[in-house]
Amino acid sequence: MTENVDVVLIGGGIMSATLGTLLHELQPDWKIVAFERLSDVAQESSNPWNNAGTGHAALCELNYMPQQGDAPLDPAKAISINEQFQQSRQFWSSLVEKGVLDEPTTFINATPHMTFVRGEKDVAYLKKRYEVLKEQPLFAGIEYSEDSRVINQWAPLLM
Ligand SMILES: Cc1cc2nc3c(=O)[nH]c(=O)nc-3n(C[C@H](O)[C@H](O)[C@H](O)COP(=O)(O)OP(=O)(O)OC[C@H]3O[C@@H](n4cnc5c(N)ncnc54)[C@H](O)[C@@H]3O)c2cc1C
Repeated sequence: MTENVDVVLIGGGIMSATLGTLLHELQPDWKIVAFERLSDVAQESSNPWNNAGTGHAALCELNYMPQQGDAPLDPAKAISINEQFQQSRQFWSSLVEKGVLDEPTTFINATPHMTFVRGEKDVAYLKKRYEVLKEQPLFAGIEYSEDSRVINQWAPLLM
């Protein structure tokens, strides 16, 4: 049997769930189907046991702001990733308001993001990153320390 649908989503992970939900918001009359090859959804990368569980907001992920030779550190990508995370939060908020999602604490919780580095080169990089990002409104409140007592307060188990 063949069936005409408007959208076919391959895979039952977070990407299909998000795109499908967005499309349904914009085009409630569209017929959307998702195909998952496993016996249940969210069993691969989207399974909470298979990823680190942080919302990538470029707060602690250094890969969004790499040092490129001697050029000054460019915050553009980190800002753009953080903006995308804020958009995700707006989207989830709207779904909570509509009753599509449960209480936010059932799926998202705020926690301090920390980056710890060692060695002269990496410490110098982290300090430069802090100096650039602290000027950015989305990164307001970012803190930096080389004082072991302060780091001990932030991350006692690490210390
Ligand atoms: C170790 C690790 C740590 C991570 N940590 C983080 C993190 O802290 N924060 C963060 O934001 N992101 C993190 N990520 C990334 C994040 O988990 C993924 O980007 C996200 O889950 C991808 O979602 P997805 O729906 O594209 O893929 P998946 O969740 O993998 O879903 C793809 C689905 O497609 C199905 N499928 C594949 N082929 C077919 C087919 N031919 N037909 C039908 N179904 C098919 C699969 O079975 C699977 O269910 C991490 C990823 C990994 C691996």
